[in-house]
Amino acid sequence: MTFDILTLFPEAVESMLGISIIGRARKAGLLSVNCYQIRDYTEDKHRNVDDTPAGGGMGMVMAAQPIYDCYRNAVRNAPEGERRRVIYLSPRGRHLTHALAAELSTCDRLVLLCGHYEGVDQRVLDEMDAEEISVGDYVLTGGELPACILVDAVSRLLPGVLADPSCYEEESIASGLLEYPQYTKPAVWHDRAVPEVLLSGDHKKVDAWRLEQSLTLTEARRPDLYDAYMAAHPPKPPKKRRKKEGSGG
Ligand code: SAM
Repeated sequence: MTFDILTLFPEAVESMLGISIIGRARKAGLLSVNCYQIRDYTEDKHRNVDDTPAGGGMGMVMAAQPIYDCYRNAVRNAPEGERRRVIYLSPRGRHLTHALAAELSTCDRLVLLCGHYEGVDQRVLDEMDAEEISVGDYVLTGGELPACILVDAVSRLLPGVLADPSCYEEESIASGLLEYPQYTKPAVWHDRAVPEVLLSGDHKKVDAWRLEQSLTLTEARRPDLYDAYMAAHPPKPPKKRRKKEGSGG
């Protein structure tokens, strides 16, 4: 999987995506991240990449030309027929969810455009056939953090990036529930003990405790997830006791 990130702040994206699990996965060749400086593509003699909004109003709008030339350069050697999606990170977009991240993880290339100021000239979004994705119902100053969130959420679903698929399959959201509370050593800290069952060594009891905790948390915090989970996992009816032969009538 290749991520091409079109940005005015490549160093911000590079520093975020150069560390920890994603940094290691890049070094191991499991994914690549290429950052492109949009300003390098401007034809403006002052290297401006923005201009005043048509129709008037506050702020500045990122111009179409540098973004489009930057995009053309990013995909110039892309193989024919690859599964590619062009994404503009935007508060107007479809919300990024686990399901959408899983869908995106099947692509060969994601081109991510990070906006700034009041946003981007609509014509370049139309020309690139960009879809819009939002990381939540709030407005940030730029698209770099959202792009890093998307790269992180998608990358950890790629084969080999996490040690085992169970790492994400059993986590909050992907499992359909919120995760149970986690503990580590020492067994007592600030007079707070790790729940006894977790130290019992009885895996069946541990699993049952974790499921119960997950259900309780999810019902309290995310009734929408809880209802969906319960609809998909209806409680099993109690087994009918078979009458012993010869007993009763
Ligand atoms: N004027 C725009 C609007 O009202 O929709 C907001 C522009 S915002 C100040 C600047 C840039 O930050 C956007 O172009 C976008 O790339 C990014 N951005 C801000 N909030 C975002 C969010 N919730 N999700 C994804 N990108 C976001």
